[in-house]
Amino acid sequence: DQKFKVVVVGGGPGGLSVSSTISNLLGKNQVAVIEPANHHYYQPLWTYVGGGLKNFSESVKPMGDVMPTNAEWIQDKVTEFDPENNTVKLADGQTVGYDYLVVAAGIQVNWDGVKGLKEALGKDGVTSNYDADSVQKTYKFIQEFKGGNALFTFPNTPLKCPGAPTKITFLAEEAFRLNGVRDKTNVIYNTSAGKIFGVDHYGRVLQQLANERNINVNFQHELVEINADNHQATFRNNANQELKSFEYDFIHVAPPQGAPKFIKESRLADAAGFVDVNKDTLRHNKYKNVFALGDCSNLPTSKTAAAITGESGVLKKNLIADIQGKKIEQAVYDGYTSCPLIVGRDQLILAEFSGYTGKPLETFPVDQRKISKVSQYLNKEVIPSIYWNFLLKGTWTGPSTVRSIFDPVRPKRDE
Ligand code: FAD
Repeated sequence: DQKFKVVVVGGGPGGLSVSSTISNLLGKNQVAVIEPANHHYYQPLWTYVGGGLKNFSESVKPMGDVMPTNAEWIQDKVTEFDPENNTVKLADGQTVGYDYLVVAAGIQVNWDGVKGLKEALGKDGVTSNYDADSVQKTYKFIQEFKGGNALFTFPNTPLKCPGAPTKITFLAEEAFRLNGVRDKTNVIYNTSAGKIFGVDHYGRVLQQLANERNINVNFQHELVEINADNHQATFRNNANQELKSFEYDFIHVAPPQGAPKFIKESRLADAAGFVDVNKDTLRHNKYKNVFALGDCSNLPTSKTAAAITGESGVLKKNLIADIQGKKIEQAVYDGYTSCPLIVGRDQLILAEFSGYTGKPLETFPVDQRKISKVSQYLNKEVIPSIYWNFLLKGTWTGPSTVRSIFDPVRPKRDE
């Protein structure tokens, strides 16, 4: 059995952004990353893949290529945490010890949460951008669509990138127009939520746009079953518990998601099953040598890679101070997150806000609620290279510096 100064669970953007910096600081044999997967996915690209604007191959790299060279990659799953004894247990039965633990294992997609979904997915017009296989079917199904009902769903659970279900709705609606089938199509967005987007500052603009584009938005509609044989999707109206079936010719499902089982069953979890950390410092509320970031944490902001930029900077400052035995004033995370709301091939509303206050935290000195072609270019062509070359290497901790440069010239607004 092995022991490391720092053990990082998960090789997504959360785990790699932290392990890169810490392993460069400490040198070889000090930091281990436990990660079972052969591939690392840049999931934010999947909306573009589903919309036919990017190739899937651009969203994936072999895990070995993105692992920090100074970190030890243990290719296995963590099955149990034992924070009282500073160890984790692996699927192969071994235990790995640590002085400090960083948990970044992502959110679990619960395909079983919708009856019939797993069997139907990827066939006959049923798709989801939330899966590495089915995302490769989305654009094909959009292109094959000849009219009828196009359905889009939003789950009744926490989810990664809460903007993603609407983005594919707008991209598909535009594709139906370009393909000349829009006038024989009902575009129906059924969401479990009570609003199209959680932050009203942007949500109002998005709802307005949905109205203009004749997208029918139904609130409190939770997908509970897909019957692939007769092309019916059944929704429960969570306001009155009534069930209602919609016939579909195309359906994009944003599946129910939740805390990974092995975290939920551990001592690290809060009541909902996510890793219970202090929302300012990202340190575990009970075990002071444990930290978490990203989708598996209970940080009350929206779960995005953008949030991880800010989270990782704060976590690393606090962890490095611990490792070096320095007493510092703890670095504090402000809840920064971003939802690049793609609303067309060349159209994006760059929502940036604090998930803690619901207030905009915009980088650029313009009204970012306005549809922007430049923002679309930034998100589609520039941010992916920032992700691969800087976030994963630990050197990008978010746009707060850029934001403060623009602060003096930012127009003051009432909202
Ligand atoms: P992940 O990236 O999910 O990585 C978790 C890692 O942990 C995985 O590699 C997994 O294999 C590993 N793991 C799991 N279980 C174990 C275990 N038991 N032991 C060890 N390792 C384990 N974000 C944005 O910022 N902007 C966007 O526009 C955007 N769009 C999105 C669109 C879609 C369709 C999707 C699906 C996501 C989108 N996101 C977006 C969200 C973003 O991808 C996630 O928030 C981000 O990947 C979270 O990073 P993470 O490191 O927390 O988790």
